[in-house]
Amino acid sequence: MTEIRHHLTDALMIGYCAGTLPEGFNLVVATHISLCDECRARMHEFESVGGEILADELPQAMSDQSLSDTLDMIEAGDIAEQAASAYIRPETTNLAQSSSNVPLPLQDYIGSDLDKVKWRKVGGGVKQAILKTSKTASVRLLHIPAGAAVPDHGHRGTELTLVLQGAFSDETDRFGAGDIEVANEDLNHQPVAEAGVDCICLAATDAPLRFNSWIPRIAQPFLRI
Ligand code: ZN
Ligand code: ZN
Repeated sequence: MTEIRHHLTDALMIGYCAGTLPEGFNLVVATHISLCDECRARMHEFESVGGEILADELPQAMSDQSLSDTLDMIEAGDIAEQAASAYIRPETTNLAQSSSNVPLPLQDYIGSDLDKVKWRKVGGGVKQAILKTSKTASVRLLHIPAGAAVPDHGHRGTELTLVLQGAFSDETDRFGAGDIEVANEDLNHQPVAEAGVDCICLAATDAPLRFNSWIPRIAQPFLRI
């Protein structure tokens, strides 16, 4: 795997360690941690700090924005359902040495072969496969053909996008394999897959996207996007 340049925010890391994230977000976070040495080390630091100190001190150390993001995520979710969602272990994945092309935390959801995923067409050549998780967040695999674009959209909540294969670029930067993009209400973007290889991403959202053109808006309820 090439060098990972886009990592988890503190808010996501704390939410994951504290067990307050929806299952779909846990899955994306655990999958990133399984691929990323840097975030795995940070997670061990957070865990060793302990719950009490986390609650007392870290909110002051975080920026106002990341704290309010965490609170929004906790508020947005159904607490009872979240409590029931299993902790997803961030077992280390070394795809170069593994016979599977699927990171370990994801294998419980989609099996061990990315080539056997059952895709459904979304439009514009883009395909998706929705994963079964608790309803507090929706999580899917997206398959974007090389050079193709996802429709231009904004966000009503938080969207996490983790690249599993290939790369995409949007208004903010380039995201390659292992990179995670955290998008919020203030970001409007149009991800475009890089030429050469199809891009496969794991994407989770806790609220429907806000599409800027009418065709995706009409299709939205059917695609559950
Ligand atoms: Zn990382
Ligand atoms: Zn987005």
